[in-house]
This record gives sequence, structure tokens and C-alpha cells, in this order.
Amino acid sequence: MTVVGTAMGMRMTPMLAWAFAGLLAFGGAEPAAAQSTPPDRMQIVVKDNDGGYHATKSYAGVRDRVIKARLLERLRDFLSPVRLPRSVGVQAAECDGGANQGPFYRNRDRTITICYQFVALVERWADQVVAAAQKDPKGYPFPITRDEFIWGLIGGVVLHESGHALFDVLDVPVFGREEDAADQFSILIALRLRPQLAEAAVKSYAYFWHAARDPDGAMKNGNLNEDFADEHGTASQRLYNGLCLAYGHAPAVFGKFVAAGWLPAQRAKGCAREYAQLAAAFDKTVLPFIDEKRMVAMEKIDWLAADYGPERVMPARPVSISAQGPAGRGKSVETVR
Ligand SMILES: [Zn+2]
Repeated sequence: MTVVGTAMGMRMTPMLAWAFAGLLAFGGAEPAAAQSTPPDRMQIVVKDNDGGYHATKSYAGVRDRVIKARLLERLRDFLSPVRLPRSVGVQAAECDGGANQGPFYRNRDRTITICYQFVALVERWADQVVAAAQKDPKGYPFPITRDEFIWGLIGGVVLHESGHALFDVLDVPVFGREEDAADQFSILIALRLRPQLAEAAVKSYAYFWHAARDPDGAMKNGNLNEDFADEHGTASQRLYNGLCLAYGHAPAVFGKFVAAGWLPAQRAKGCAREYAQLAAAFDKTVLPFIDEKRMVAMEKIDWLAADYGPERVMPARPVSISAQGPAGRGKSVETVR
């Protein structure tokens, strides 16, 4: 589970950010990539033929938008090159925990849940971040659009949760805080996407954590500030750690963040080594589970395309595996395409 530090005084949850910008958009011309997904990999958790987008009273608009974006389908297909020894579920829901509840991975049922309220939060932040970047083009090294911010950030968060899931089902040993490792996983994957996606992911992540607020260091009621006891890093730490990996991987691109003062030079000089260390860990622990053929198919997909595949997810996309076909009511298992 995750939690994200505090932002604007709010306590958010899991997030992290970034990369998945890519997840977001899948080219309509590549349905083949999804069609061969074998069972027992990523599974959309369908209830009452809802396509995995569970009913909500308070966030109907958000639900409509993530259905339109086909967020769950993108996530499932994006991760489909991973040979999972056990299935991992994905679903979207109005989560318990209030307006600031963020997405999370739950080991108990091996399910990633994307909370509608988190999408709503990102949408609320988008206008202010985009406006700030427009107002200060020198201070913000990359221009950003509303869509880039929203989907880059949501994509990154979903990748972060995917990191938790893979650590779990692949039994990846984690030295250090798992929350840091999940952040690093997310960033690493984002950086390996096409340059346009990598940029969207990194800048949305950076601008988000830049806009967030670190917990203040004051004593609370005579006790140390418990925000620092959190399993996650603070906003600044997450910002610097993420930028360091981006810069370490592609200094010619993300050197702008160093030049603009977002990443201090003293940290920057060791970032190539930090990135190399992370990449080596990934290659040893996760890469052996990647199906290379399928990965090649994934790389052909235009994740930034507005539409994802030729079929719409709603209303009929979930298909019952049972002989009766998709018409039945009640819980069904989506046929893995
Ligand atoms: Zn987490």
C-alpha cells in the first residue's frame, strides 16, 4: 500500500508517479498485441459486467473518463510481457479511506486498485500546475499540457503500484524501503519508453512533487513530526530521487532540470551511477520474467494515441468465459484477449 506524503496539506496515498504516461494511450492499430495474452497474467476484476470499473456514487464523471481512456485495459496490456507466475488483478473503484485515498496494491488478493478519488485529485491539480508552468517558462524546464500532466502522473502512479505487485508475485528481494523501490521501478520503466512518453512521465512527476509540500519539521504536541515516520519519502526526496534517475539515464534531455536548479549539481554528478545500479537490479530480478517477443509487440504501440484499440470497453467488452457468452448477469471473468 502506499501513501503519498502530504500535498497542499492533504494526505494522499499511494502514488508516485509517473511513467505510465505511456500507459495511456494505446494505438488502435495494434490489437494483436493484446489478443495473445495468455490467462493467469494481468486480469481485470469484473463485477456485474462493469468491465472492472466498479460503480460509484460520487465519482461518476471520473469513472466515465477512465472508461473512455480504457485505463485498465492499457495497464493490463502494458504489463502483459511479464510472465507472471500468479495472476494480478486490476480494478478501478471509489476506495474506502476518503477523498485523499490513492491507488494501492494489496498483497492479500494481489490486486491493484485505482481509486477514482485519486484521478479527481490529479484533475484538480492539473490546471494549477499547467498555469504555473505557463507563467514561468524559464522556471519550468519543459512545457506541459493538461493531458500530459494528468495521464503522465496517473500512469506513473499505476506503474508504482505495478512495482509493488511484481515485487510480490515475482519474489523480488528488496533492499531498502519498498516505497522507494516502487518509485524507482516506475521511473525506470518510464525512462525506457519512447522519448515523448518518458518526458511526459518525468515532468508530470517532477511538477507534482514540486507542487506538493513537505511536512513541516515542527514538533506536534511535543512529539516529533510523525510525517517523517512514514514509509514513503517526503515530497522533496521523491522529486530529487526521480529527477536523479532521469538525469542519470538521459543527461542530454533532463539536464534541463539541473540547469534550472531543480536537481542540485552535487546530487547530479552521481546520477549516472545511481541509474546504472538500478538498471542492473532490474535486469537481474525482473528482466528474466519478460517475454521478449511480446515486449517487441508492445513497443510498437503508440501509447499516446487517443484511442485504445478498435473496440470500446463499454458496454460489451467484458465477455464471460462461460459457454453462455457475455449475456449473463453477475460476476464474470473477462476473457483475456
Ligand atoms: Zn507504494
